[in-house]
Amino acid sequence: AVFAQIAACEPQVQSYLALTEESARKTAALVDKKLAAGEELPPLAGIPIAIKDNLCTEGVTTTCASKMLYNFVPPYSATVVKKVEENLLPITGKVNLDEFAMGSSCENSHFQKTHNPHDLSRVPGGSSGGSAASVAAGEAVLALGSDTGGSIRQPASFCGIVGLKPTYGAVSRYGLVAFASSLDQVGPMARSCEDTAMLFSAISGADEMDATSCDRGHRADYRDYLARDVKGMTIGIPKEYFGEGIDEEVSAAVMQAAEVFRSLGAQVKEVSLPSSPHALSAYYIISSAEASSNLARFDGVKYGYRSEHYQNLQEMYVNTRTEGFGAEVKRRIMLGTYVLSSGYFDAYYKKGKAFQSALCAEFDACFADCDFLLTPTVPQTAFKLGENVDDPVKMYKSDICTVPVNIAGLPALAMPCGRDSQGLPIGMQLIGPHFGEDVLLSAGHRYEQ
Ligand code: GLN
Repeated sequence: AVFAQIAACEPQVQSYLALTEESARKTAALVDKKLAAGEELPPLAGIPIAIKDNLCTEGVTTTCASKMLYNFVPPYSATVVKKVEENLLPITGKVNLDEFAMGSSCENSHFQKTHNPHDLSRVPGGSSGGSAASVAAGEAVLALGSDTGGSIRQPASFCGIVGLKPTYGAVSRYGLVAFASSLDQVGPMARSCEDTAMLFSAISGADEMDATSCDRGHRADYRDYLARDVKGMTIGIPKEYFGEGIDEEVSAAVMQAAEVFRSLGAQVKEVSLPSSPHALSAYYIISSAEASSNLARFDGVKYGYRSEHYQNLQEMYVNTRTEGFGAEVKRRIMLGTYVLSSGYFDAYYKKGKAFQSALCAEFDACFADCDFLLTPTVPQTAFKLGENVDDPVKMYKSDICTVPVNIAGLPALAMPCGRDSQGLPIGMQLIGPHFGEDVLLSAGHRYEQ
């Protein structure tokens, strides 16, 4: 059914960069065989899943939506991909993203523009736009995305689905092509909190291949916590997330959701995260600095694209990178190289890191008496294709509510909370303390009901 839906929707939606129908059918057949033999199956066995194309898949192209990796076939699979396979989920294919996960609209893909299934003239969000659009269009039941500054939550919000950015370290990053290593996390995207909880159970936990991963707070099955009552919980509303720049329809919908939580027995109170307005600047300094270092490996020697125009080694490097990277990736590399260069390190990167400590302390203060915080996911609903392409700063502003979470390494759940006057989905964000995914998923689940 999913492949029939792909055949029907792909000409308009364009979420897939590669289909892996043959291997998906093999996995499905294996599940059928095990079922017939009466074997016990993992809970998600047979559920079709799409994989963001910055996660390595052995034997299947992993392009990061970049010309630089147009022909890259990894010799190994990411830990999360292996876990998906062990749990017998048929992988439908690799889905579109902004090049190297840099962007908020999927328009930075070298290959194609993905469209929002709710309104084809609009973007699906980014960078995990292919993941979100494929789930929203029924071209996959589940998807994996990655979130460095909102890339799971913002597209989930634009496409009206659920997305979880896990606590830093809760999910292995081994085999995720690195963008900003101190912020990147892989996470689940789905149509409900229950589905999200199931996929999160399957992919989370410590991995010896990623030294930053750990088992703290890990639950074998997050579904066991979904029935938890919201009654008695305290929800913080950070006032900085409802002011200037946030669309009125969006803040009204999130406030309405707060009322729903209140009616379920939660206490709702205003809190403050005074440093938040600086989070965007800090994010674009830290993430670009790390990206400039991580992307140094793409030089035409080991991976993917190599320029045909060169006389010597230096020219080969330069021309490969000039021709292989798109404009946004080059912008980040230049910005990152600049902030790390001698003489500027103290003024930018060091300040960014100091800001990180200050923001963490503010979040900690909120969690001293709040179970979770409630904010909009994005200041507005999905914008039109082409609307922000010539204005990078305007594009960056759509990350204003999501980046503080990555800077502080916290978990956050994005989920639908209504529609605007044009019928476009509005998303809310539940932010939890470190390793508090169970609290977020149970509160989200109660809200859905
Ligand atoms: N939109 C943000 C950026 O362009 C977030 C990207 C991400 O989370 N991968 O950096």
